Amino acid sequence: MPIYEYELCDGACKVCGGKFTLRRPVTAEPLTKCPLCKRAVKKLISTFNSPQKLKPLSITDAKKSGFTVLKKIGKGEYEKQ
Ligand SMILES: [Zn+2]
Repeated sequence: MPIYEYELCDGACKVCGGKFTLRRPVTAEPLTKCPLCKRAVKKLISTFNSPQKLKPLSITDAKKSGFTVLKKIGKGEYEKQ
């Protein structure tokens, strides 16, 4: 399962720090909003091109779907949410 790295399009976020990674199944639709603060994000690392769907993903839904949401707390360090 690839790990995608996302960066907020619109400034820094106090919740996610403006940058976070999300491990997602390859079949999942592209994430367009931060699961924590709901701000628009852009994907930094992409190995797939899948159809764009504008469905907000809440952290609760993410966990329910079996995703692991990681917060970047330092260089190479991640905190499990
Ligand atoms: Zn955020």
